[in-house]
This record gives sequence, C-alpha cells and structure tokens, in this order.
Amino acid sequence: MSKLLEVKNLSVSFDTYGAEVKAVRDVSFQLNKKETLAIVGESGSGKSVTAQSVMRLVPTPPGKFVGGEIRYNEENLLQKTEKQMESIRGKEISMIFQDPMTSLNPTMTIGKQIAEGLIKHQNMSKKEAHLRGIQLLKLVGIPTPEVRIKQYPHQYSGGMRQRAMIAIALSCNPKILIADEPTTALDVTIQAQILELMRQIQEETGTAIILITHDLGVVANTASRVAVMYGGKIVETGTVDEIFYEPKHPYTWGLLGSMPKLDTEQEELQVIPGSPPDLAEPPKGCPFVARCPYAMNVCSDYMPAYTSVSSTHEAACWLIDARAPKVDIPESAIV
Ligand code: SF4
Ligand code: MG
Repeated sequence: MSKLLEVKNLSVSFDTYGAEVKAVRDVSFQLNKKETLAIVGESGSGKSVTAQSVMRLVPTPPGKFVGGEIRYNEENLLQKTEKQMESIRGKEISMIFQDPMTSLNPTMTIGKQIAEGLIKHQNMSKKEAHLRGIQLLKLVGIPTPEVRIKQYPHQYSGGMRQRAMIAIALSCNPKILIADEPTTALDVTIQAQILELMRQIQEETGTAIILITHDLGVVANTASRVAVMYGGKIVETGTVDEIFYEPKHPYTWGLLGSMPKLDTEQEELQVIPGSPPDLAEPPKGCPFVARCPYAMNVCSDYMPAYTSVSSTHEAACWLIDARAPKVDIPESAIV
C-alpha cells in the first residue's frame, strides 16, 4: 500500500464565545493510493473539520490549526500559502458536499461550472472544456449530457445535482476526492446509486476517496478502510471487515448496534444513551467515558493509547490495553 496523504497529530480548535472548542484532537491517519477511507462518527465528532483541514477550508479565525501536519507530496499542506492551496484545491484534492444546492452556483449553467476548473487548472479553451464537460456528465451517468450541460442546477433533480458535483470534482483528475456526507440529503434509492457511482469512479480513475459519513451502513460496500471518530479523536481504525466483524471499541459496538440489520428479524435498534462530550472542556481520559457501559476508573483519568490488534487494525480503549486490569465483557456487548 503506498501512502498518498498522511495526517499526523492534527489538532484544530475554534474560538467561540470565549471558549476554545477542541474540535479535532491529535488525529493521525493515512490515505493510500486508490483506496476509499471512510471516516465515521456522529455529528460533532470532528470528521468534517478533519476533512476541511485537508483542503484547508477551515475558516481561520475562528478556527485555528493548533498542531500537527498534513503531508501530501512530501509537503505539509498546513504550511502552504492560500495562493499555493488554490492550485491544489480542485486539481490535486477536490471535495463534494452533502448539499449540492448550496455548493453549486444557481446563476451559472452546469457546463460553465465544470469548465471553470478545466480552464483554470488545465489551460483548456472554452470549447475543449465544453467537450470535456459532456464526457464528464456522461461518466457520472447523466442522460443526454449535450442538453443537460446547458442547464442550470434548478433544472436538475437532487440526485443529478450530486452527480454534477461529482463531475465538477473529478474534472481535473484529482488524486484525492473528499466526499462529506455525499448522500445524506438524498433518498435511499438515489443514495445507493451515488455510492455505486463513487465505487465505479474509484475503479475507473484510481482516485483515492475520503468518505465522511455518520452512517456505517454506507461504508460496507464503498470503503476499504474505516476510521471511527468520537469526541474529536479517532478511536478505532481498521479494514471494513475488521470494523464490522471484529470491532474492539465500545463506541464502534454502539454504532454497529444502532445500524438496521436486513438479515435478521428487526430487534429494537440500540441507540447509544447520552450525548457526546463538550469539546470546550473535553474529558481528561477517554472521550467516550461518560457513555461507555464498560468504563473503569482508569478511563476517566488517562487517555487510552492505541493498541494494535493487527497490522491494519488499532483501537484506543483500556479494555484491550495490556496494562489495564482484566474485566469480563459480556458476549452480548459484542455485536
Ligand atoms: Fe470505555 Fe474505558 Fe474503553 Fe473508553 S477506554 S471506551 S471508557 S472501556
Ligand atoms: Mg459534518
């Protein structure tokens, strides 16, 4: 697996109402070439801020990069000037958002919006950009692209707008595509189609994808690896199989327990009781301590270190730390 992007000890805070909200706390992960890494967590877990940091789209102020590095092509993106970032955004790394209606420009045709990046980053003429735009709309499965390219966003359905966003994001053949909740605003059938499209694009173009989602359900068929975030931290990372079949972190157990299962008679979904920690004053120890049914004394005082379970799987929980007292975990806890 060769490394394309490496986030090392990233910490990002926001100054709000006199408090410093520590949205991302010491987060490290890597993205390999041609893979899809899903970052999963509830809202407020820090997943979007992590993604926006990679694009350097965190507004500063109120945001600030407190520490860490984002390494891409041997360089730290956090040290780039805004001007240097402009030549990376859209060209090397591009992003699609949850709601295409707010990220598409309502006053410009879809064709013009695709052409913008091509003219800016690829030195294409208007005519070349138009022809490439038609190809791209075709690639993302928009019918009669020759007609559709001349239309405005409001003439597209929700699913088609998301497809158009993907076409714009892919226009300059980026190495990395970041998708922040790309299907959340869509109905279930369209969701499945967009995820399938992303999977196909990944196969055809080799673009590596960071998929941000609160929904483990979208991860199974789309991602190769998963990072689970909670309280501004990554609490578990593994391959999709490791996360689904051998999860080690109680928060991951909770997430899996709150996922509808298709193959069994529907029992009541378990929702994780309680609410996420206040990141203006994050807990000293494990971020999940207030909601964890297995919390021990050590959990409130000391942050658990990452324990490696396999070469691709690690979790930060005292339950699997060799230094912690042994406790019995009931079978029923493990989903
Ligand atoms: Fe629960 Fe403790 Fe593990 Fe945190 S470290 S998830 S509180 S058992
Ligand atoms: Mg978000």
